[in-house]
Amino acid sequence: MSNEVENKIKSLRNSTPLKNFDNNKLAEIEINKFFYEGEIIDRIMVVLRANGCEHYKKTGGCSMCSHFNGTPIHKVTDKNYIAQWNSVLDGTAIEKENFKFNLNDYPVLCLYNLGSLFNQNEISLKAIQYIFKSLNNYPNVKKVIVESRAEYVTEESIKNIKDVYSSLVEVGIGVESTNKTVRELCHHKGIEDIQIIKNSVKLLHKYGFKALAYINFKPIFLTEKEAVDDAIKTAIDCFNMGFDAVSIEPTSLQDYSLANYLYEMGQYRVPWLWSIEVIVKGIYEKINRQDVDIRIGGYFDEEVLSGSQGAGFAGRNEVFPHMTSSNCSACTKRYIDGIKKFNATYDIKSLTSIERCPHCYPLWQDIMKINDSRSIKKRIKDIFPDKES
Ligand code: SF4
Ligand SMILES: [Zn+2]
Repeated sequence: MSNEVENKIKSLRNSTPLKNFDNNKLAEIEINKFFYEGEIIDRIMVVLRANGCEHYKKTGGCSMCSHFNGTPIHKVTDKNYIAQWNSVLDGTAIEKENFKFNLNDYPVLCLYNLGSLFNQNEISLKAIQYIFKSLNNYPNVKKVIVESRAEYVTEESIKNIKDVYSSLVEVGIGVESTNKTVRELCHHKGIEDIQIIKNSVKLLHKYGFKALAYINFKPIFLTEKEAVDDAIKTAIDCFNMGFDAVSIEPTSLQDYSLANYLYEMGQYRVPWLWSIEVIVKGIYEKINRQDVDIRIGGYFDEEVLSGSQGAGFAGRNEVFPHMTSSNCSACTKRYIDGIKKFNATYDIKSLTSIERCPHCYPLWQDIMKINDSRSIKKRIKDIFPDKES
């Protein structure tokens, strides 16, 4: 990893104000539209108020991420996690008025902790077992999606769930890029050896779990075209590694992330939405099939039931991005609607049939031609000139 990048991320981290959240209260519950087994279904997303990503604590974390802003000052204990989870089961966590809530109404549950659910330093095996054991009382929940960095996907962490829960579990793993220079210098991912990721996929499959790859689209220091090519190549590599699905995650800007800092310096722009269809088409073409599971992260029709994330909640939100991937003001909304449709149908026409915008489509075409002959190391040095890279 680069010292400049890490030092800058750490200094931003140190300037992030700490907040004292209620450890017994979830960060968020929302429902969103999701494509599952050929149908559009309601998926429920539960975000635990949690102890935060260890990578962030040790190294400052990834360049595009500020999830740590949602971490409370005081440690979240097993008791807290259990209280949070019970508030989902009994519906007391729901803030939306007159909403009849029953977990059993949702075939897919996302259970997130803004970090790694398989890292015992973030959440104990005991707390996880409690949650999964209770899910046996909700037989209509057919699939649970969780997230973890690859290094915490171990026999122990998988068996801990498998011992008490037999329905489908999918584990989302942040791959970001299979190009080591991009992954380590641009994303600051801290996974130098791709074998760690490959092993995690094998282990998940050994126990009948599914593996989902998160691919960050357009990290800092890359041109738009380089980022598109990197996302396509990474997705293909992920399918070849055995991942069952990929989620393309266009960079969004959260306060105190390095991506946001570079944006404020005029050194970064969030990705263009026009690029998304190029990525999806590129994956289809290279893999020579269209039945692969590709999602575009962050773009689902959502309804927030409680908590502070989501549209309209920016004012009281600790991890809400203040800027997401965009075109121009005339066509961004139209394109986002197209992405939501794609995520609910997996029909590429939802993207390719969007009317080409006269205001920004030609500009994006020109931007895709921009070439930067400098190495990534040189680009970092040019932005942070006073120190060695
Ligand atoms: S992207 Fe994931 S691994 Fe990276 S800092 Fe954020 S939570 Fe941690
Ligand atoms: Zn436009």
